[in-house]
Amino acid sequence: MATEYDLIVIGAGSGGIAAANRAASYGARVALIENGRLGGTCVNRGCVPKKIMWYAAAYAEAFDEAEDYGFSHSGLTFDWNTLVTRRDAYVRRLNDIYASNLNQNKIDLIRGTGHFMQAHTVAVDDTHYSAEHILIATGAYPSVPDIEGAELGITSDGFFELGQPPQQVAVVGAGYIAVELAGMLRGLGSAVQLLLRRHAPLRNFDDTITAALVTAMQDRGIALLTQATPKRLSQNGDSLSLELEDGRQLTKLDTVIWAIGRLPATKHLDLDKAGIQVNSGGFIETNEFQETEIKGVYAVGDVTGRAALTPVAIAAGRRLADRLFNQQTEAKLDYNTIPTVVFSHPPIGTVGFTETQARKQYGDDIKLYTSRFTPLRNGITDHKPKCTMKLIVTGDNEKVVGCHVIGEGADELLQGFAVAIKMGATKADFDNTVAIHPTSAEELVTLR
Ligand SMILES: Cc1cc2nc3c(=O)[nH]c(=O)nc-3n(C[C@H](O)[C@H](O)[C@H](O)COP(=O)(O)OP(=O)(O)OC[C@H]3O[C@@H](n4cnc5c(N)ncnc54)[C@H](O)[C@@H]3O)c2cc1C
Repeated sequence: MATEYDLIVIGAGSGGIAAANRAASYGARVALIENGRLGGTCVNRGCVPKKIMWYAAAYAEAFDEAEDYGFSHSGLTFDWNTLVTRRDAYVRRLNDIYASNLNQNKIDLIRGTGHFMQAHTVAVDDTHYSAEHILIATGAYPSVPDIEGAELGITSDGFFELGQPPQQVAVVGAGYIAVELAGMLRGLGSAVQLLLRRHAPLRNFDDTITAALVTAMQDRGIALLTQATPKRLSQNGDSLSLELEDGRQLTKLDTVIWAIGRLPATKHLDLDKAGIQVNSGGFIETNEFQETEIKGVYAVGDVTGRAALTPVAIAAGRRLADRLFNQQTEAKLDYNTIPTVVFSHPPIGTVGFTETQARKQYGDDIKLYTSRFTPLRNGITDHKPKCTMKLIVTGDNEKVVGCHVIGEGADELLQGFAVAIKMGATKADFDNTVAIHPTSAEELVTLR
């Protein structure tokens, strides 16, 4: 006999925990199955430890500039071990908080790997659990290239396990994780080469932002290798050598990080027993209500391959619970106009259409407002990182359809602008808002 629930969630990461807690708050009987640490990717090997490392690199950069502000810090040292010990202790505290919240919400946490026996029955080891509603929220994992010696490299997961700072690193990848890892490592003192398969990182971002990022990375001493496809990784005494398809050789590396994409975590699920197909990328497709092709079986988060971000997984999970257990029959996540930040150095904040997308959508009926300036903070420093902003508007009323910023504070300033843009703000609305002075953000409401 299977234990009966209203909802079984497979995967206690961002999406799964959010859906389980919301459903339980409406009185649903919920089981949550997890084979790793509570919180999933974001908490354990994604956003949270990543942002701590980003802050560490930001401290290092601030120390560099501090002398121009009159500070003297001779004898400054950095201890990697202190950083990762405190980071990991913080993450463990989060794991405990998640466990205690689940407990308070009377959610049954089942430890182990869940797999389908049939559409509405899931097994963990020899025990079976059934529910009218089953949510797959198993996330994704980093992929590794299919080349000789790939196992000598690490992924972003391995980055968070490094016991000491690498000296000579090659980061392979052009997405935001590659960019972020390269920036953090460089900030903390590693010599970093970023290997891009084509000509630039973050190719699906606005071109103006990508160009500014390239300049900023080079300015900080990151070597960008374009058209660089790895062919073979080999151990050479104490170091690693990476051979590229075109014959280039990178030698004397101590760490190679693969950041070439993420694959859906479905292989242990026995999806075929539930009758669920995956698409060509292996992701589980859903409709706008997160429903798979099998009634009562849903998927949210990275396993669906759509906008792989924590707040997206959380919002989709919560909306689903609202719909299933709180009579909000139309509750669903709007996947349009999702703001996102890249924690590069300096960070990028972006929402809405890129210029290329806007041209495709509106043809010539777009107008661009851009600005590039040195933030006040760097007015008196020798090092002068720039801030670049771009607004894309359309129509006679100049509705804002894209907002892109790279520069100090871009990560924090974007959220409020994202609200305005989601509400349909026009350029005139921006201009009618009194600036906050002196900030970088004020540029966005004074663009000419
Ligand atoms: C390095 C890095 C940095 C990132 N930075 C950011 C950021 O700054 N901002 C942001 O918004 N997003 C960021 N992300 C993305 C974010 O972490 C993911 O989008 C988010 O975690 C997805 O949530 P999820 O619920 O879909 O999956 P996950 O959080 O991955 O959770 C899935 C869970 O399911 C479990 N699981 C898998 N299969 C089974 C099974 N069969 N049985 C039981 N349990 C199973 C896994 O152990 C895991 O705990 C980052 C990701 C990485 C890798």
